[in-house]
Amino acid sequence: MKKINYLHAKSSIMYDYLIVGAGFAGSVVAERLASQAEKKILLIDKRNHIGGNTYDHYDEHGIMIHKYGPHIFHTNAKHVFDYLSQFTKWRWYEHEVLARVDGQFVPIPINLNTINKMYGLNLNSDEMEAFLASKAVKLDQIKTSEDVVVSKIGRELYEKFFKGYTKKQWGLDPSELDATVTARIPTRTNRDNRYFTDTYQAMPEGGYTKMFEQMISHPKIHLMLNADFKEVQNAISYKKLIYTGPIDSYFDYCYGKLPYRSIEFKFETLDKEYIQPTATINYPEVHPYTRSTEFKYLTGQTHHKTTVVYEYPQAEGDPYYPIPRRENALLYKQYENLASTIRDVYFTGRLGTYKYYNMDQVVAQSLTLFKRIMETEPEKSLNGKKHVHVPA
Ligand code: FAD
Ligand code: UDP
Repeated sequence: MKKINYLHAKSSIMYDYLIVGAGFAGSVVAERLASQAEKKILLIDKRNHIGGNTYDHYDEHGIMIHKYGPHIFHTNAKHVFDYLSQFTKWRWYEHEVLARVDGQFVPIPINLNTINKMYGLNLNSDEMEAFLASKAVKLDQIKTSEDVVVSKIGRELYEKFFKGYTKKQWGLDPSELDATVTARIPTRTNRDNRYFTDTYQAMPEGGYTKMFEQMISHPKIHLMLNADFKEVQNAISYKKLIYTGPIDSYFDYCYGKLPYRSIEFKFETLDKEYIQPTATINYPEVHPYTRSTEFKYLTGQTHHKTTVVYEYPQAEGDPYYPIPRRENALLYKQYENLASTIRDVYFTGRLGTYKYYNMDQVVAQSLTLFKRIMETEPEKSLNGKKHVHVPA
């Protein structure tokens, strides 16, 4: 990977691909095209760093933090894990979360330990199943994020654990969101306190940024930071484009803005080795933030101080979360249809395809895109093309 500046890119280089966004979506496809197809790549990002929202670095106290909120890697996809393992060693890590409910810290996802602690009971798994069945609300259809929860655990637990948190996180009532949002959080009748149950749960040993440095280290990849696509596109010569920024921005919002949820991250460093009982605490009640995360649990770093991040969801700001609901999917569909009519431009990633994807899903999506490009564009037509494609 060679870092270049605007003047250099402008000079006389013809790139096979201009890739917009140096997060997972853009970096994976850059790596594949460079290492497997010998393509000449210019990877750009408007930020001053690589890694997209997974970017991590040491704060002024020397503690490794995630600038855009805590990122925990987990996947069931062996091919994704094997692919990333080329660029990093791993630290095995299983994430646990406590929810602050009724003045207590109880495990979330709700499991046997949660119910027994909350209600002072001593149920076994069968009894918990019966307990939940007695609370569950029978519904004809499961359409919304409210339905999916109340149909499993009833209204009381829904209100304690999901309603307030979801309203804060999304600025919407759960009844206004697709079922897929709260369906991410299971309910268990065993004592498994882990947040995820995926086969592979691990953190890149040296951090995400180091892993990205390795991923894009190929000499055929040039990297330009502080470069907004809209500002540099006309000065760069390239044959094809891969765009991982927000799809609506690419099309100048011609059908209107796709709604995104943003977050303000507030970091606090304390002169203590540890401050929280577990890595993350979720706050479904009155607190203005949704969760707090203590990074040292994730990274395994030893330090006499500790840094915690609090997440304050908000409407304005960087686009972090596509908002899964029907009207937004319909608006996205319009952009997707428009995208399918232009040649030599591909969209991928959480923002490029407006999907509430985890990191592993984005990696899988970009690996699939690479395969599709290779299948639909035989080598001979990819090489030796001379025209300069400048999108409108
Ligand atoms: P991004 O990482 O957003 O990268 C897109 C890049 O494009 C950005 O760097 C942006 O600057 C750049 N860009 C945009 N427009 C332009 C432009 N016009 N010109 C130049 N560059 C541009 N996933 C998990 O699996 N586990 C987790 O624990 C987890 N936690 C998360 C916590 C939070 C708070 C958030 C917001 C997300 C979390 N995720 C998690 C999801 C994860 O961040 C994403 O799946 C992943 O980072 C998406 O990668 P991407 O490349 O698609 O997008
Ligand atoms: N959720 C909730 N209470 C919780 C945890 C999650 O209501 O304690 C809901 C909320 O709507 C949240 C969604 O489930 O946005 C998905 O949670 P997850 O932890 O997967 O969110 P992410 O890590 O993507 O922010």
